[in-house]
Amino acid sequence: MIDETGKIQYVNKSWSTFGSNNACIIGPNWSEVNYIVECDKGSAMGDEFSTKAGAGIRRVIENRDTTFYLEYPCHSPDDKRWFMMSVTHFQISERHFFVISHKNITERKLAEEEVSHLARIDGLTNIPNRRTFDNFIHEEWNRCTRLQKPICLAIVDLDYFKLLNDDYGHQTGDECLIKMGELLKEFVNRPSDICARYGGEEFALVWADTSLKQAKLICERLLTKIVELNIPNKNSATRNYLTASIGLAEMIPARKDKEHELIGKADRMLYKAKGSGRNKVSS
Ligand code: GH3
Ligand code: MG
Ligand code: MG
Repeated sequence: MIDETGKIQYVNKSWSTFGSNNACIIGPNWSEVNYIVECDKGSAMGDEFSTKAGAGIRRVIENRDTTFYLEYPCHSPDDKRWFMMSVTHFQISERHFFVISHKNITERKLAEEEVSHLARIDGLTNIPNRRTFDNFIHEEWNRCTRLQKPICLAIVDLDYFKLLNDDYGHQTGDECLIKMGELLKEFVNRPSDICARYGGEEFALVWADTSLKQAKLICERLLTKIVELNIPNKNSATRNYLTASIGLAEMIPARKDKEHELIGKADRMLYKAKGSGRNKVSS
């Protein structure tokens, strides 16, 4: 509990215990310590949560807010931990105090992280799912429109994958898709790149600010790597091992264009690669 100047008036037992167990700046010798000054010290050292905490406490003291909440990480060397700080006004006769409490919200935060992971990542291949891909390409498309930079999209479709499933079982098929996910990760390195499971046995790769020529080289390398996985597919009409076909498209987006034009173009190129012998990239 602090007074209107920020000076600590009282702490409860869990505060003292937490302070001494975690080598906090405000340890057992809390009397005469000014909480707001401590926040300002943290802020001066560049800690954004100290800045937010200081500003929030001041807002409640100045009666510009009735309550203030701040979720912040406070990881120990062994564990990830999050807390929620809350600040509320408290009055005894004519004296005003402010109660600052810190609640451990780690369990909720870990659950939220898990849910967010499940919503973004494909459960089988462990790479971004279709939803993440749709959001990503939309953002990169807009960015490349603003910067007038080329954006490339490759749709990768495994050849005769149905036969692979039929001949070796669905579980073997799943293992191939997992290997593909691992392989595709090697082909995206920048924040403006993504690989995703587009659906079934189809994958999509985006390289923003990349020319068609560069992207084509990457696709050729990817096809070689898929062949090098040396996954048997004995009844495939192209080879007796797993191959893929790639439809590649490039656009320098203009304001009137939409990203589905790029997707349509890549789709048409994939159709062309399938129709002209498979195990190749068409662009
Ligand atoms: P094409 O060369 O023309 O692409 O032939 P294809 O057999 O690969 O294409 P088709 O669309 O006929 O079949 C796709 C197959 O992919 C059928 C489907 O069972 C399989 N598939 C899709 N998703 C999964 C999956 O999650 N696991 C497994 N094991 N197979 C999948
Ligand atoms: Mg397909
Ligand atoms: Mg296929």
